[in-house]
Amino acid sequence: MGKAYPSLDTHLTTDIAIIGAGISGALTAYYLRNSGYSVVVVDKRHAGMGSTAASTSFLQYEIDTPMIDLAKYAGEENAVQSYELCRKAIYDIAAICKKLKPQFDFHLRPSLQYASYKKDKEELYEEYKMRKKYDFDVRWLEPEYIREHFRLDSPAAILSKDAAEVDAYLLTHALLGTFFKAGHKVYNNTGITDIEYHKRYIKLTTGTGFTIKAKKLIIACGYESQKYIPKKIADVYATYAVVTEPVNKEVLWYRSSLIWETAFPYLYFRIVTGNRILIGGKDDLFHDPDVRDGRIKRKTDMLIQAFSKKMDIPVKPDFSWAGAFAVTKDGLPYIGTIPERKNTYFALGFGGNGITFSAIAAEIICDELLGIKNENAALFSFNR
Ligand SMILES: Cc1cc2nc3c(=O)[nH]c(=O)nc-3n(C[C@H](O)[C@H](O)[C@H](O)COP(=O)(O)OP(=O)(O)OC[C@H]3O[C@@H](n4cnc5c(N)ncnc54)[C@H](O)[C@@H]3O)c2cc1C
Repeated sequence: MGKAYPSLDTHLTTDIAIIGAGISGALTAYYLRNSGYSVVVVDKRHAGMGSTAASTSFLQYEIDTPMIDLAKYAGEENAVQSYELCRKAIYDIAAICKKLKPQFDFHLRPSLQYASYKKDKEELYEEYKMRKKYDFDVRWLEPEYIREHFRLDSPAAILSKDAAEVDAYLLTHALLGTFFKAGHKVYNNTGITDIEYHKRYIKLTTGTGFTIKAKKLIIACGYESQKYIPKKIADVYATYAVVTEPVNKEVLWYRSSLIWETAFPYLYFRIVTGNRILIGGKDDLFHDPDVRDGRIKRKTDMLIQAFSKKMDIPVKPDFSWAGAFAVTKDGLPYIGTIPERKNTYFALGFGGNGITFSAIAAEIICDELLGIKNENAALFSFNR
């Protein structure tokens, strides 16, 4: 369990306030820790207990929209740049994990995307060619190889070298710990219920009536950020995950690859500590946390069934959970400012693979606050 920070019980003044202590808020806070600004992070829950705690912690540059489709929405150059930035984010997070004291557990893993159906093979091959053209380290795999190395039946697959796994909740706490040791403040159980814009400062009021006056505000509230933005920018999905009982180590697959598929919503799985398998997916639209949680049992059965249909490994569920995440039309997050909220920056780690976006958001926002031009900011801007 991460550190339990206190709730805010006084009035505060700071240079920068960050609402949201998930992986996006924590990475942004970490980037700003030596900026010379005073920074305060607040969260209405225990830090990291939003989508971050639910995350299955795949780090993939492959976002929810394939590169070939993103090229149609955003243009080929932008699609490639987004994928390159997500790939870089994996290695940025690796470098951060190495610097944290004590060094934080981070593992590079290959990522295998298999064709769910025969009809997906052609499009998957187009995706492979495009990634290859832009120097992504990918291999095209045929059924026999897939069966032999992954115990999986599929007509084809792309194996990507650049992916990783990291515990997002514990990383959030390690980042906040470093930020806190640098002299900044973190408050748990401190919900912001009102934001007022004044000429020289932004006043945040908590549910218990305390105030924070800040010159700049960063909103890192995950899928709950929508309420601060006048235009609808994303749909929110519920998603489900199960960890199995330990399986025989002999049946596990090639280099503990992260595995996912072409169907949408996709099934995905990876090996976790103790030779267990983490299986996730079966997303549906999110309306109500109680309805979502009421479906966990049925979704667990569906996940186990879907896994068993594909993989030649007998599994039994051990524990399951659900969470929510936001998805935009083009699969890219929104990062930066909107005219309706002065001196306010949005750090949104949207998407099923949102953690790489959290790292990109942290870098862009930190640059903006330090007056450094960030060439990548336009890709994720609210005006795109
Ligand atoms: C089951 C599941 C599996 C996933 N798997 C992966 C994966 O394998 N790889 C990947 O990259 N991504 C994955 N994701 C997505 C990933 O979890 C998110 O992209 C990421 O956690 C978003 O982080 P965040 O900090 O932006 O949001 P959150 O973690 O949701 O943090 C936002 C924080 O803001 C706080 N907050 C909100 N409103 C207020 C307020 N008014 N006042 C104070 N605090 C407030 C919340 O309490 C919360 O802690 C998954 C998501 C789920 C649900």
